[in-house]
Amino acid sequence: LPKLSGDFATVMAWADKHRRLKIRTNAETPLDCEMARRFGAEGVGLCRTEHMFFDESRILAMRQMILADSEKERRSALDQLLPEQRTDFRRIFEIMEGLPVTIRLLDPPLHEFLPHTDSEFTELSRAMGIDVEQVRHRAIELAETNPMLGHRGCRLGVVYPEIYEMQARAIFEAALAVTAEAGKAVFPEIMIPLVGMPRELETLKDALHKVAEIVFTEQGRRIGFSVGTMIELPRAALVADELAVSGEFFSFGTNDLTQTTLGISRDDAARFLGAYVDKGIIAKDPFVSLDIDGVGRLIEMASRKGREARPDLKLGICGEHGGDPASIAFCEEIGLDYVSASPFRVPIARLAAAQAALTAA
Ligand code: PEP
Ligand code: MG
Repeated sequence: LPKLSGDFATVMAWADKHRRLKIRTNAETPLDCEMARRFGAEGVGLCRTEHMFFDESRILAMRQMILADSEKERRSALDQLLPEQRTDFRRIFEIMEGLPVTIRLLDPPLHEFLPHTDSEFTELSRAMGIDVEQVRHRAIELAETNPMLGHRGCRLGVVYPEIYEMQARAIFEAALAVTAEAGKAVFPEIMIPLVGMPRELETLKDALHKVAEIVFTEQGRRIGFSVGTMIELPRAALVADELAVSGEFFSFGTNDLTQTTLGISRDDAARFLGAYVDKGIIAKDPFVSLDIDGVGRLIEMASRKGREARPDLKLGICGEHGGDPASIAFCEEIGLDYVSASPFRVPIARLAAAQAALTAA
């Protein structure tokens, strides 16, 4: 694994003396976490959980879960997924050694998990004990016209609470195990994606607390944890004061917040944004560097409203912008607590945070 050394490490140490912003990382594998720590990450700001289920050993059970026709079928597929999910979190908690870890509950555009090929249909038909045509029919029924605005994020958790229940159980069991073994308390931060309505957050937070009580009673031990929300829809920013009543932290998901505020598909923007830059309509690609006048103002407003409702509300950013120096300067200006960047951008973020703090001073 690469490591910072020599003059590079010295410059980073100087930067650290001056920065106020904490630097976390977006990491979902043990390797990401190890690398980010070597680069100086002070926690995980976003552990996405979708990709964990693309693993060869899990994709079949995941597809069974998505295509299930009843809660019973879904729960039985989720039972198969629980042990490996618990191991995922355990390894991350072990590597992070008590540093904060924010785990985001499942947020897949559903189409990414649907079977497409004949062999996938056949494999599922065998595993589920139903006809191939029935599998195909269920997959067609689940296909969405606009998956990025469809049945994803917390909507999935509202309709199928058992999915988040499995993930919450895996988080609590892993955190209890690592706390007992390492003697260092693990304090998971559980993050709900794509929230737009306060009741979504309240409903899901209640469900997570119920799972916590069940697991703590089973094991006769407890740990602390917090539940927060991503702010990645304009509506979430507008009702941030209400979200902060139950949300214990906000993390700005600026990839989706840029997509939904500008009404520009994050997957198709490259087709025309170059021309916009060339013609001087915009200065920079808003998916790379924060659109301060639009998305930035929403973040500023949500931060202010959120902290009015909950003065100790923890605020961070976990979209790609968390590793962009100009965006980091804005995060410093409006008083966020941390930025979260992909592992290789952690050193840049440390430097940019120091530069922003010195500029502000
Ligand atoms: C975001 O939307 O900014 C975010 C971090 O989530 P994802 O990129 O996984 O949608
Ligand atoms: Mg998002």
